Amino acid sequence: MAAWPVSRMLRRALRPSVRSCSSGAPVAQHRPGEELSQGPRQFLREHAAPFSAFLTDSFGRQHSYLRISLTERCNLRCQYCMPEEGVSLTPKADLLTTEEILTLARLFVKEGIDKIRLTGGEPLIRPDVVDIVARLHQLEGLRTIGITTNGINLARLLPQLQKSGLSAINISLDTLVPAKFEFIARRKGDQMQRRAGDIPTRAYAAGELWLVLGFHKVMEGIHKAIELGYCPVKVNCVVMRGLNDDELLDFVALTKGLPLDVRFIEYMPFDGNKWNFKKMVSYKEMLDTLWQQWPELKKLPGEESSTAKTFRVPGFQGQVSFITSMSDHFCGTCNRLRITADGNLKVCLFGSSEVSLRDHLRAGASEEELLRIIGAAVGRKKRQHAGMFSISQMKNRPMILIGG
Ligand code: SAM
Ligand code: SF4
Repeated sequence: MAAWPVSRMLRRALRPSVRSCSSGAPVAQHRPGEELSQGPRQFLREHAAPFSAFLTDSFGRQHSYLRISLTERCNLRCQYCMPEEGVSLTPKADLLTTEEILTLARLFVKEGIDKIRLTGGEPLIRPDVVDIVARLHQLEGLRTIGITTNGINLARLLPQLQKSGLSAINISLDTLVPAKFEFIARRKGDQMQRRAGDIPTRAYAAGELWLVLGFHKVMEGIHKAIELGYCPVKVNCVVMRGLNDDELLDFVALTKGLPLDVRFIEYMPFDGNKWNFKKMVSYKEMLDTLWQQWPELKKLPGEESSTAKTFRVPGFQGQVSFITSMSDHFCGTCNRLRITADGNLKVCLFGSSEVSLRDHLRAGASEEELLRIIGAAVGRKKRQHAGMFSISQMKNRPMILIGG
């Protein structure tokens, strides 16, 4: 490890640790010396430098987690994420270049960001995604590099991504029924050139092309992630009434033999996704359904800044979480910032306020100037989002343009 200022090392030593894997399988990223006894802990607390003022908001929340959208494009068209008619894409020249992404990432990491998640659109359709991960991996102080993906290209790319330093994976999957997958994602599957030895499960042959159903590609990606030791492999499932709320128990059953963290996400409103209160299934309602089947379902302790409430059926390898942004928001401990593919800093997923870091970068702003702009935006962050009914009326971008 290159030399770090002592204060920075102390500050990091005090951060909550990454949860270990329930299955006992290797965890992709870990920290040595996790448990500190009270003496050293007290010493560290007294001597640690304060967290970056630029990344601390007026309510004292320290932002150490940055989500970067790598693209606005996607190979799926999920109903809850984008309008049926599609979105107008930003001209290529206005999107962040790879160098601009890395310049911003470097600046944020220097200030104290220790976790970056790459998202989109679909991050795995960006041709240089492996290179971006590798270059992020070289940033001193960055402890976790995660990706949120729809899983379609995952099985193919994961070995290279892992070698490049990818430490955490979230894979979106909203149904275990292949035909329903096509309906939700508004896409049938991919035509694939046939290669020797490449016989995917339940592909349809058509001359030299195979039509591979999206669902099976995602499942292949999930199994590849498990095989490569990611643990837990997080599976994001947006729950919508009348669409997939009848599959909750099937998803939980998957965690019996697989080291998954199935995360049920409350359906959130964004421009063009036709959100309405009746379609949203609340965390409490989901939990009731699960308890009827597994009364022994147990809540697990969680990190303070975690967005998830996590449970496990005793004896199951995996676990189940709920992301309760709507019915029980976690704004009080929010430590997340977002950069959109066109270079806007967004301090709250549900706020319309954005500031263009791209424009300042291209105008030749110095690091200090950029930090002042970032600090001002973080300083304006509200205490909490406006509540689910208000945010459903507010102008915001479609989720696909924000990056989740
Ligand atoms: N394409 C990638 C994927 O699908 O995982 C990454 C981008 S996607 C916008 C990031 C996450 O946001 C996904 O897990 C997706 O399920 C979630 N998401 C999108 N729209 C949502 C909505 N309306 N409510 C809740 N979650 C949503
Ligand atoms: Fe694409 Fe992800 Fe949005 Fe689905 S949720 S349309 S996969 S960006």
